[in-house]
Amino acid sequence: MKVLVINAGSSSLKYQLYDMRGETVLASGRVERIGMDSSIVTHEPADKPEVRSVSEILDHVTAVKRVTDMLTDAEHGVIAQLSEIQAVGHRVVHGGEAFSSSVLVTSEVKLEIRKLFDLAPLHNPAHMMGIAAVEANMPGVPQAVVFDTAFHQTMPQSSYLYPIPKVLYRRHQIRRYGFHGTSHSYVSDQAAVYLGKPLESLKMVTCHIGNGASCTAILDGKSFDTSMGMTPLEGLMMGTRSGDLDPAIVPFVMNKEELTLNEVNSMLNKHSGMLAISGISSDMREVTEAMNDGDASAKLAFDMYVYRVKKYIGAYAAAMNGLDTLVFTAGVGENSVALRQAVCEGISFLGIELDAERNALRSKEAREISTDASRVKVLVVPTNEELLIARDTYKLVEQAKTPATP
Ligand code: AMP
Repeated sequence: MKVLVINAGSSSLKYQLYDMRGETVLASGRVERIGMDSSIVTHEPADKPEVRSVSEILDHVTAVKRVTDMLTDAEHGVIAQLSEIQAVGHRVVHGGEAFSSSVLVTSEVKLEIRKLFDLAPLHNPAHMMGIAAVEANMPGVPQAVVFDTAFHQTMPQSSYLYPIPKVLYRRHQIRRYGFHGTSHSYVSDQAAVYLGKPLESLKMVTCHIGNGASCTAILDGKSFDTSMGMTPLEGLMMGTRSGDLDPAIVPFVMNKEELTLNEVNSMLNKHSGMLAISGISSDMREVTEAMNDGDASAKLAFDMYVYRVKKYIGAYAAAMNGLDTLVFTAGVGENSVALRQAVCEGISFLGIELDAERNALRSKEAREISTDASRVKVLVVPTNEELLIARDTYKLVEQAKTPATP
């Protein structure tokens, strides 16, 4: 079966086409600047050169049409006809409390996703446009939705409730949902396979550290707590997001600086984090480079970033009464030797001992970077959210074909 994975944003759409027989990627690509006159389509077939085209793409229906045209194109395509694609899987950021696993798209599911627009106003409406665009271009093809929040629905109340009046939870579903769930789920499974142990037997912290960043405590094979909250703003310091801060700062700053709600929201999401402290960039490579060149602000940004990762690892080790496995993933977690070294230094009391040589090795495979003597196994596991979306979609479509036993 061939499965198309789609991640639709408000002005962009990323795609990957999988052949599920060997879980191989046949092609991937993206459409950028949807709704603008010079939209860009970048198509990367696995065995042919990349193609790029610029044209006017005013909506998601046209964007998906361009994608399907590329996939079936005589010169640049990877399939002979569109009917070879037998399922489409979508990334959906917010599944609220309605979804604790991936599901096939039905009218009820679409209604539930719509109800969650308030909780993810920038993401869920765009995902719905992606679903509608596939319906328009590929009628009758089954679609599945895979939620960033679903993996974290196992958190106990003591992890997910905020200590504020309970009526706010009842009225507005204000609680911790957590994000990056597809990634935390994928890398925790991969880590258990690598170690040859059942996931249920491990006390694990997974650190997804990219532009956005979150740590998850995994106990009995399930998400027990996670650092992102009702929105992806809470938790670790990130590229441009502040992460944790005293909530009283918000009204204080609004008052002193005469900021509107939107302005303060934008400040905390887009102008804070590593970018604000370094004054240089939100990109870890540029900040590390400046730090190595002696820039004091870059060093402070790096130190603060590391310090907060350490605090979450320590907190989650305490929350789980132990730690066996620590996993690094995503852009920074997979690639920054310096970040991993700085995080692991100084928490040896937890039983973490990093092997400097193993840490410096580069590989696209899951690998251990702790010493043989280290009680806590430290791993780098490349994340692959698209593969997990393709797998879930494939599974759901296959299950739907099998008649239920009475
Ligand atoms: P992601 O959001 O997972 O794509 O991660 C993006 C982040 O990964 C950016 O901050 C990049 O600077 C960072 N990154 C990518 N490659 C490296 C690298 N070789 N060293 C340090 N950071 C990296």
